[in-house]
Amino acid sequence: MSNNIDNLMHEERRFPPSAEFAAQAVGKADLYDAAKKDRLGFWDKQAKELLHWHKPYTRVLDWSDAPVAKWFDDGELNVAYNCLDRHVLAGNGDRVALYAEGEPGDQRVYTYSELTAEVKRVANVYLSLGITAGDRIAIYMPMIPEAVIAMLASARIGAVHTVVFGGFSSDSLRSRIDDAQAKLVVTADGGWRKGKVFPLKPTVDAALEAHGGGSTVTNVLVVKRGENEVTWTAGRDIWLHEAMAGVDAEHEAQGFPAEHPLFILYTSGTTGKPKGILHTTGGYLTQAAFTHKNIFDLHEEKDVYWCTADVGWITGHSYVVYGPLANGATQVVYEGTPDAPHPGRWWEIIEKYKVSILYTAPTAIRSFMKLGREIPAKFDLSSIRVLGSVGEPINPEAWIWYHDIIGGGTAPIVDTWWQTETGAIMIAALPGVTTLKPGSAQVPIPGVVIDILDEQGVPQEKNSGGLLVISEPWPSMLRGIWGDPARFQETYWEKFGDKYFAGDGARYDSDGDIWLLGRVDDVMNVSGHRLSTAEIESALVGNQIVAEAAVVGAADETTGQAVVAFVILKKSHVDDQTPEEASAILRKHVADQIGAIARPSKVYIVEELPKTRSGKIMRRLLQDVAEGREIGDTTTLTDTGVLSIISAQVH
Ligand code: ATP
Ligand code: MG
Repeated sequence: MSNNIDNLMHEERRFPPSAEFAAQAVGKADLYDAAKKDRLGFWDKQAKELLHWHKPYTRVLDWSDAPVAKWFDDGELNVAYNCLDRHVLAGNGDRVALYAEGEPGDQRVYTYSELTAEVKRVANVYLSLGITAGDRIAIYMPMIPEAVIAMLASARIGAVHTVVFGGFSSDSLRSRIDDAQAKLVVTADGGWRKGKVFPLKPTVDAALEAHGGGSTVTNVLVVKRGENEVTWTAGRDIWLHEAMAGVDAEHEAQGFPAEHPLFILYTSGTTGKPKGILHTTGGYLTQAAFTHKNIFDLHEEKDVYWCTADVGWITGHSYVVYGPLANGATQVVYEGTPDAPHPGRWWEIIEKYKVSILYTAPTAIRSFMKLGREIPAKFDLSSIRVLGSVGEPINPEAWIWYHDIIGGGTAPIVDTWWQTETGAIMIAALPGVTTLKPGSAQVPIPGVVIDILDEQGVPQEKNSGGLLVISEPWPSMLRGIWGDPARFQETYWEKFGDKYFAGDGARYDSDGDIWLLGRVDDVMNVSGHRLSTAEIESALVGNQIVAEAAVVGAADETTGQAVVAFVILKKSHVDDQTPEEASAILRKHVADQIGAIARPSKVYIVEELPKTRSGKIMRRLLQDVAEGREIGDTTTLTDTGVLSIISAQVH
């Protein structure tokens, strides 16, 4: 990647931690020293300090069956006990675990005692339906507390959940049920979204009736939430509240081996057909809890934490359910969309619950930028003290906006790089230690070893880039792709043997900090120059009229590939010029910022971009459009209408 153009890294703003923040920080610089001195000893210490073990382990890591790692494998623990009972037994039963805010504004509050009681009953319901350890449970729910309860109850009895995002179609649900061979589905009649009830149960019915009806599912448990009409299959369908009334309130959590499976979760499908990622318990919970506590500087007795992710994504697993609850945190879960019933809904929630730690995605930040700063300015956001970002590279301009407008100009932002496969955060700053750089995820967390290699596998150093790999096994790593060991081997391990190939491009700057440059598949080659999507998109978002941008390389006879950009303008600037003028301004802007080589051959001004349900831009589909090809797999796309509109504009 010698011809790479590294405009992105000319970002020069720096944000060192304040003295007050550093003094009170949970994670200190000595974590790096300890992990460097004795990596396995470091994780051993975390596992012992952060978790309760029903049976202590004697082995930390067994890598003899690589690439399938075993961590703490002769120990036993119960994940739900770690997230619930032990906090109650430690005298914290009255601490709020969940502030559950419904979209219509209804509120339910669960203390740790109350949440424990609910989970025990649901565990007994599962057992009464013949679910035993190792059986798969599909969870298809709105973002309501019962989704969290359903997951924890599964973990409690050693069952394996597979959460399917509640916005997915019956086909997507059915293919995941079939792939995981789920015995039970937990769902709701419906949930609230954009001011109305959207039904879920009919989608489950349709999924189970498809392919002639014969599926592995024997029962469907239904939470009453939307109060919408539902049809009922006698003998199969059961109201959860009725079943809970009929079972014992007590349930004693037993320990399961640390390598017992916890869940299967399908990836977002940004780059292709989703993969069913398998995670287990001991190592996963150790790294989820460690990162949640240290990266977000959690002071569990006083912070109010809010991660806006849906439980249908890995972020919802590790940073709504398992990490925060293992740490005894108090958190907000919100059912609805950011703009219902008004565009300041999130900021209203932050004001209402005095949220002090907010974790969200760049896509959300950029959509708020598009609407303008006047909206958050109407609310009191002074409780915020730490901000997090995940899911895509955060462009420096979006970083600064987030920092100034939401973080009051003082809250540190931790940009966290990780994947469904990694289970927990892998690259991120420690907010009390690291001097922050907008746009860079910066450094591997203590205990994780990351390298950037060239195509030949040669490690890169300062001021050079290539392919991101994880060089040593980590506690929360995936243990495989469910039912597909060949794809596991081929996707992650074929390229560099014993080093995990992440599929993302990255670069070191002159300080040795890491910058994520986008998917390896998305790197463009323009007249022999390798250009990353992230840097051209950041240049575009750096222009004051732009809210969001997506860049792809389209086949071009003279240059190999040509840069094609799709841009959303800020509401406040839409009428300042015609689309043709905007396009000309932005082509020049990129040429000025990066160089003539990066000047887009076309800039399309659009209203929306095609995104996955988890909010990531699907560049592969834009490339299909730009090259006039048939559009690829769109099953995890939010809205296919967006693509038809863009296609019409391009052709
Ligand atoms: P699929 O693997 O099916 O294509 P996906 O990769 O989008 O889907 P996820 O596991 O949800 O599925 O996303 C992980 C990817 O998200 C990473 O590989 C990376 O490309 C991107 N990502 C996540 N966090 C960051 C971040 N902080 N900075 C840059 N990129 C990020
Ligand atoms: Mg991926």
